[in-house]
Amino acid sequence: MKNKEIKILLTAPRGFCAGVDRAIEIVKKSINKYGAPVYVRHEIVHNKHVVDSLKEIGAIFVEELKEIKDKSRPVIFSAHGVPKSVPVEASEYKIEYIDATCPLVSKVHREAENLYKANYHILLIGHLNHPEVIGTMGQLPNGSIDLIQTVNDVKKYLKKNKKNIAYITQTTLSVDDTKNIVDALKKKFPNIKEPLKKDICYATTNRQAAVKKIAKNCDMFFVIGSRNSSNSQRLVEVAQQAGCKDSELIHSTSKIPFNKIKKCKTIGISSGASAPEILVKEFINKIKNKISVKINEIEIIKENITFKVPRKLN
Ligand code: SF4
Repeated sequence: MKNKEIKILLTAPRGFCAGVDRAIEIVKKSINKYGAPVYVRHEIVHNKHVVDSLKEIGAIFVEELKEIKDKSRPVIFSAHGVPKSVPVEASEYKIEYIDATCPLVSKVHREAENLYKANYHILLIGHLNHPEVIGTMGQLPNGSIDLIQTVNDVKKYLKKNKKNIAYITQTTLSVDDTKNIVDALKKKFPNIKEPLKKDICYATTNRQAAVKKIAKNCDMFFVIGSRNSSNSQRLVEVAQQAGCKDSELIHSTSKIPFNKIKKCKTIGISSGASAPEILVKEFINKIKNKISVKINEIEIIKENITFKVPRKLN
């Protein structure tokens, strides 16, 4: 028997962003144009469901180009971007490549190049080993960019040369945590050059703002997304920082805590920029099978951004 009704607050915007939509479209259109298989370097976006569905239509995922068995087949670079050495390596192998780097990540790459040309030493705020960070650092010669992950890193940072300092950031960071790091940087280097337009992208910003708005009114908060999805992980942290301590990521092997959910009055749900809406629907349906729910979607802003796929795929 179902027990008392609980309220589900569903955040909007949530889920796919324009960069993820475009990257998936690039893989599908490439398979249409070139036939299967088409190789993809790294998970095209960080979501198992997306990766598995693309495998089914003929995508083969590799981490490095040297793993590509049939080098006569094209390869797609993931939405996170790649170091400059990767297209060079593809050309050496004579592999045709299609770049699915999100235009907002490419913007940060161009920013880094322009700062380097203008003789700045660059600090990149981001997470060690995230593919986007590897890609951005790989736009410039080794040693041109230093990674800053925390306020403590700022405190410990020692200038390496006489150049003026500029900072750029990963696109999927926590807006609030990044502000603290930027404040610490500005305090330490009052003349630091800032990006003209914030590097944290519109999708990350909107999803975090939507979570922040409702998480404080929730007894539990769930973010649908993969463990390696930076923006999904950040949404969990944002929900916790906004006041919902019991916030967690729901990934492909998560167990849903029905017993805890039953005891809630209100739960919140969002999804990372790489998580398809079907996963949100499935999660809600699993809850509905055991618990009566009333769903209320709270939209804080309408998104209408789209990115075109490379012309050669049209
Ligand atoms: S999260 Fe932002 S930067 Fe990343 S793919 Fe989406 S729009 Fe692009």
